[in-house]
Amino acid sequence: AAARPELFDTAAIQQMDTAHYMHPFTDTKALGEQGARVMVRGEGIYVWDSQGKKVLDGMSGLWCVNVGYGRTSISEAVYRQMETLPFYNSFFNTTNLPAVQLATKLCEISPPQFKHVFFTGSGSEGNDTNLRMVRRYWDLLGYKERHTIISRHNAYHGSTVAGASLGGMSGMHEQGGLPIPGIVHIGQPNYLESGRGMTEQEFGIKAASWLEEKILEVGPEKVAAFIGEPVQGAGGVIIPPASYWPEIQRICDKYGVLLIADEVICGFGRLGKWFASELFGIKPDLITFAKGVTSGYVPLGGVLVGDRVADVLIEKGGDFNHGFTYSGHPVACAAALENIRIIEEEKLVERVANDTGPYLKQRFATLADHPLVGFADSCGFVAGLNLVRSKAAVVHDNVEFDPALAVGMICRGYMFNNGMIMRAVGDRMIIAPPLVMTRAQIDEMVA
Ligand code: PLP
Repeated sequence: AAARPELFDTAAIQQMDTAHYMHPFTDTKALGEQGARVMVRGEGIYVWDSQGKKVLDGMSGLWCVNVGYGRTSISEAVYRQMETLPFYNSFFNTTNLPAVQLATKLCEISPPQFKHVFFTGSGSEGNDTNLRMVRRYWDLLGYKERHTIISRHNAYHGSTVAGASLGGMSGMHEQGGLPIPGIVHIGQPNYLESGRGMTEQEFGIKAASWLEEKILEVGPEKVAAFIGEPVQGAGGVIIPPASYWPEIQRICDKYGVLLIADEVICGFGRLGKWFASELFGIKPDLITFAKGVTSGYVPLGGVLVGDRVADVLIEKGGDFNHGFTYSGHPVACAAALENIRIIEEEKLVERVANDTGPYLKQRFATLADHPLVGFADSCGFVAGLNLVRSKAAVVHDNVEFDPALAVGMICRGYMFNNGMIMRAVGDRMIIAPPLVMTRAQIDEMVA
C-alpha cells in the first residue's frame, strides 16, 4: 500500500523543516530554497514520500536497513522490551538481559578471536572507543609513546571529533581544526585513481606498502594501530585488490601494530559474510559495528574486542573509564537480537554470498556498456560505477568531467524522479541495497 498524500501538507512540513531542523551534512540555506523530500513510509526495499511517490531504496537508508523496511517482528520485539524495561544502564555493577544475550550472540557469529563486546550508541562512538582502547592497551603494556593511529584518506569513521579525525575526509577536517593529534593518513587503495601502469594486484601491494612507509616515518615504537574499512563505503565504494588486505595484515604483524576493521557498513552480511574481515582473510584485533546490527531500526553500535586487547584490558586494566548512557541499551539490543534472527532465518548472508550477490555483480557490470559509464563493479551488496566524459578516458583519466556537479545532480534529481535512490561520491554513483532484494528486484534496479 502506498503512502496517502492527502494526509500530508508537504509545503508546510518543508517550511517547518528548514525553519527549525539543521540537517546533518547539509547546506540548510540551499535546502530551504529547494525543500527536503519528506519520507513517510517503507516496506521491503521501497520507501514512499509525502506526495505518494514510491522509490526503490538502493542505499538501504544510510547503508543500514539490511532486512528491509516494515519488519513487524522487530517492532514487536522493541515494543515488548519497552513495556518490560525501557532502559537500564550497564554502569555500576548492573546489566540487562538483551545486552547479555546480544553480546553472547555477537561472539557466536563473529571470528573466533572475539569473545567480548563493548556497546555504544553509534558507529562514531564505536571508533572513539577504539581509540581509547588501543591507547589504553599500549599504556598498560608500558609503551606510553605508542599512541599514533594510521588511517586512510577518504575513509569515513564517523562524525565525532575522534571519528572525524580517524576519517580522512578533508571537507570534515577543514571544519573544526581536525584531525586531533596522533592520527595520520595514507592513500586509499583506489586502483582507478592511482593504479596507472600497474596490474590490480601489483597496485594492491603498492597501496599496502604506504602503510609500512608511514610506520617507518612515524617510528614503529609510536604506532598503536591501523584502521580501515574492508571496502571503503562513503569514500566511494572502493573495492581493494585481493592482494591488499593480506599485505596490510603482514605489515601490521611485522611491527606489532593493532589492526582495526571498521565494519559499520561491511558487517552483518553486506559483503556475503557476517563480517567482511573473513572475506578478505584478515584477523583484526578490533571490529567496529553499527548500522546492520539493528538494520537501523534503533540506534546501536559497538566494538568487538579481540582476545589480544581484551586480555590486557581485563587482566591488567582495572576500571576502563569510558562508556555511554546508552551502552547496551535494552531496547536497541532487543531490536538487534530480532534483526539477527531474521538474517539467520532468511539466510541473508548466504544469499548475498552465493545467489543475489553474484547476480548483482553480473547485472551491475552490464551498466559499463553505457557510453558515460567507465567502470562498474560490486562486492556483495555494495556497488559503484564511475561516470566518464567519454569511453576513451575510462581508467585513471576522467579529470575533465565535472563530477561534483553532474553526479550529485543525477543521483539526487534524475534518479529519484525516476524511482530510485542512489548516492553520489565524486565521480561515482553508488548503491548498497537491502539484503532482502530478490533477483527480479535486482533486474528492476539495474533497468
Ligand atoms: N564507520 C563507517 C565505515 C561508516 O560508514 C559510518 C557511517 O556511515 C560510521 C563509522 C559512523 O557511524 P554513525 O553514523 O553510526 O556514527
